[in-house]
Amino acid sequence: MSRHDASRPDAVRPDAVRPYTRAVLALGSNLGERNDTLCAAVAELVDRPDVRLRDVSPVVQTRPVGGPSGQPEFLNMVMEIETSLDPYGLLEHCQAVENRHLRTRDVRWGARTLDVDIITFGGLSSSDEKLTLPHPRAAERAFVLYPWALMDPQATLADEPVAALAAQAPDFPGIEHFADDDSCESGATG
Ligand code: ATP
Ligand code: CA
Ligand code: CA
Repeated sequence: MSRHDASRPDAVRPDAVRPYTRAVLALGSNLGERNDTLCAAVAELVDRPDVRLRDVSPVVQTRPVGGPSGQPEFLNMVMEIETSLDPYGLLEHCQAVENRHLRTRDVRWGARTLDVDIITFGGLSSSDEKLTLPHPRAAERAFVLYPWALMDPQATLADEPVAALAAQAPDFPGIEHFADDDSCESGATG
């Protein structure tokens, strides 16, 4: 088998010939030092050779959607990466970063130090409960769509402009700008 044999499984291919896929991740935090957590998470998510940062959105402050009432407001942002991880490998990596920030899952949609969701992974569609792609609730969440549209005004989700979906989402009126510029930018490759 040659070094560049196309039939060689991805897992044993040299990194240089593994395909990189663009993915959009959504981050949220409503416990602890929320902005510091988001910025640390961005750095941790790209702190490996098989994940590269392409872009980050500004940070927005949003009212909690669903879950127990009386929760603190969230800070939310999105980031675009490119990765040679497979989708499940990326999910595992996102959950490891959540765990580093002591994420717990006691109550559905409860308060959390850090949530990292995979919104899109290339053009992949999946209905697996463990990893549904695109994220099944992203299209109705301004806390995901609005920062995404700020980061990438041309972005689409299921052929709809993300900016238009954001404006129609029920939580759109509650969104405030928290940090004016890309406060969590750290070495995006552009
Ligand atoms: P929501 O999914 O509505 O945003 P949540 O983020 O609070 O809710 P979690 O408790 O973080 O939900 O995740 C529950 C499970 O969702 C995870 O264990 C994971 O396997 C699954 N999951 C399915 N699709 C995705 C996805 N696209 N991104 C992240 N997790 C996903
Ligand atoms: Ca989530
Ligand atoms: Ca999640």
